[in-house]
Amino acid sequence: MGKKPDGAAEVGGARGTDRDAARRDGLSGRRGSRTLLRDLNMSLVIELVRQHGNISRADLARQSRLSPAAITAIVASLIEQGILSEVALAPSSGGRPPILLRLNPTAGFVVGIKLRDGGLTTVVCDLDARIVATDYIEERFVGAPAAAITAIEQATRRVLRKAGVVRSKVLGIGVGLSGVVDTRQGVCRFSHLLEWKDVELVEPLAKRLRLPVWVDNDVKTLAIAEKWSGDGIAAHNFLTLSVGRGVGLGIVIERALYRGTAGGAGELGHIVVDPEGPECGCGARGCLEAFVGEGAIRDRVGDRLGKAVSREDLLTLVEDSDLTALAVLTEAGRQLGTAVANVVTLLNPELLIICGEGTELGPSFLEPIAQAVHDLTFASLGHDVEVKVQQWGDESWAVGAATLVLRETFRIPEADEEGRAIWHRQEA
Ligand SMILES: [Zn+2]
Repeated sequence: MGKKPDGAAEVGGARGTDRDAARRDGLSGRRGSRTLLRDLNMSLVIELVRQHGNISRADLARQSRLSPAAITAIVASLIEQGILSEVALAPSSGGRPPILLRLNPTAGFVVGIKLRDGGLTTVVCDLDARIVATDYIEERFVGAPAAAITAIEQATRRVLRKAGVVRSKVLGIGVGLSGVVDTRQGVCRFSHLLEWKDVELVEPLAKRLRLPVWVDNDVKTLAIAEKWSGDGIAAHNFLTLSVGRGVGLGIVIERALYRGTAGGAGELGHIVVDPEGPECGCGARGCLEAFVGEGAIRDRVGDRLGKAVSREDLLTLVEDSDLTALAVLTEAGRQLGTAVANVVTLLNPELLIICGEGTELGPSFLEPIAQAVHDLTFASLGHDVEVKVQQWGDESWAVGAATLVLRETFRIPEADEEGRAIWHRQEA
């Protein structure tokens, strides 16, 4: 959970204050219960509209199990606040056009930030997670968390100006970074890439920007983004495999993101393949990443060609179908696919989504991953996991971070008989 400072804006500006007021009023008090219940019903209606894209009032009543009168009142209030709008569809048989409801995508905006060791990518997205404005800066944040916090503050202000979005319409800020993140406390416990330990992010950022802030591991934000609006939207059990400099897994089990005890689940890049193997960036020896991470792949191609190979060099070699580069990529893909196949055998997901900048290395890297998963998984389960490759862009990580805010904003709490909120385990 992120921390919401007083006066934090929510969709339409009213929902958050109502919910916060309900909490402050004491949830067991009668007045508080009624406020909370009304608020929960509004959240439910918004979430149903979001899930369906377009939905009629009658279907909303059916699916929410609220009375048609209650739906009419809630919808009227949400339309007045600019959160929902009506769409008239063309009538199918000459009758009256059916009126459907949809979420107004510009009712609110979110900021998403991917924090790298060498800079920030910042986006403003609407409620459909579509990018409205982008901002890039290059700055070194290794061992420099204070500089990173200042840079995030400035980038947020800059990108909102570029987008022409007023603060009152901003639902919050999501930050994704490489490392182990305590999402409840908003603290980066450890990042070997950034060389950070126990860095508080949410508290100082929320204070400076006076907006709600959420922070999470970057690989996990991609899994959350897939669940929110990507290929994972309908899946109960799926994995996101991010490939690039690092190798990570987002693990979604029964629609919930699996984090592990300290938030460290999914560090596939650091499973040990060979204890005598090459040194890994984490300090250990023989991690998977030391064999199949982009740095390792560049080193292997460089060794065979007898020269240093940069990322740009590697992409050019791939484009030119250089046989040495393609052979290394195929070997690395097979090796990575073998590890992923073992995870698939263990967890039996229905879907595997490959994402990350490493997808730019093309089919000679990606196809062996999918092939190994196909060849080496436990076939008698009678279900072949579907493998998809996510379309990748420079802003994808930042959009993933932005969906942290969307998820928190549209989370549906459930209430017990007395109107107390029962917060369910975190859905991805
Ligand atoms: Zn390692």
